[in-house]
Amino acid sequence: MRRVRLGARGPEVSRLCFGTLTMGPLQRDMSPQDGAALLCYAANRGIDFVDTAEIYGTYPHIALALRRHPQLKVCTKTYACDAAEAAKSLALAQQGIGRAYIDVFMLHEQESEHTLRGHEEALRYLAEKKREGLVGAIGISTHHVAAVRAAIRFGRNWGGLDVVHPIFNRKGLGVVDGTRADMEEACAQAKAHGMGVLAMKPLGGGHLIGAPQSAFGYVLTHPAVDAVAVGMQSTAEIDYNLAVFEGCAPAKDTRRICARAPRRAMVHDWCAGCAACVQRCDQQAIAVREGRAHIDAARCVRCGYCATVCPQFCIKII
Ligand code: SF4
Ligand code: SF4
Repeated sequence: MRRVRLGARGPEVSRLCFGTLTMGPLQRDMSPQDGAALLCYAANRGIDFVDTAEIYGTYPHIALALRRHPQLKVCTKTYACDAAEAAKSLALAQQGIGRAYIDVFMLHEQESEHTLRGHEEALRYLAEKKREGLVGAIGISTHHVAAVRAAIRFGRNWGGLDVVHPIFNRKGLGVVDGTRADMEEACAQAKAHGMGVLAMKPLGGGHLIGAPQSAFGYVLTHPAVDAVAVGMQSTAEIDYNLAVFEGCAPAKDTRRICARAPRRAMVHDWCAGCAACVQRCDQQAIAVREGRAHIDAARCVRCGYCATVCPQFCIKII
């Protein structure tokens, strides 16, 4: 597996990053043992970069994998706004994965300079922990072009943010405030400023799964992209993605297994119609009609964010 440096200040990692959202309680809900087994399988094949977030619920899976593969690099994310919340998030991550050092710590779901300013205290705290050697690099994850641009400008206040983690795919799916070209341009600027670019959702949340090789080909050959986070739920998916990332044709049986229907978000019938999920979805994919939430599959990018706010626990990505 080809290795890359995540920008001028980020860690050296495998170009394929194992996204763990899909194995956690918001999606497949694998046991920590089963999730760790997949992470170890991937690690044995050279994938040593793992993406998670506080809300993904996959720290236990990563902790188990780290026992066998302490070399894994871990990127996590927090919604913390101030120093106290950021300290709590850092402690949760450290205790959760069983290691004091976090390779990359990001602010989750940033939208613009406005939201970055609103999280300034948390960023200051993470920058301080970076200086103390507890955090390797700091950054943001986002579906917004404006946030990537803001990270370049506003990040200077902390000596520069190190990594951006934008939604990035062949059709610009899920980019909330612009086009594919806008996101490409913003990421190219970020890279020119020494930031690492970790692309997310190369398959557009499943919408591009009909032509995965061209979807991956676009991201892997784009000069602005350093590494790519991909959610994987089976050894076949790992094998498939490894082959594609290495420029090889995936084995026939791997292709067959991976050619299944894309994941989708569904709402159980005990939905109370409270509309909390409607507010949470930045893709405007949810509407409440006749007292129940309905998800527009054409707009949904399977991020699972709506599921985190549902008081009835009735949204699942399956
Ligand atoms: S409906 Fe839910 S999973 Fe789909 S894009 Fe909106 S928040 Fe994400
Ligand atoms: S948050 Fe949950 S209960 Fe409320 S409308 Fe959405 S799916 Fe239904």
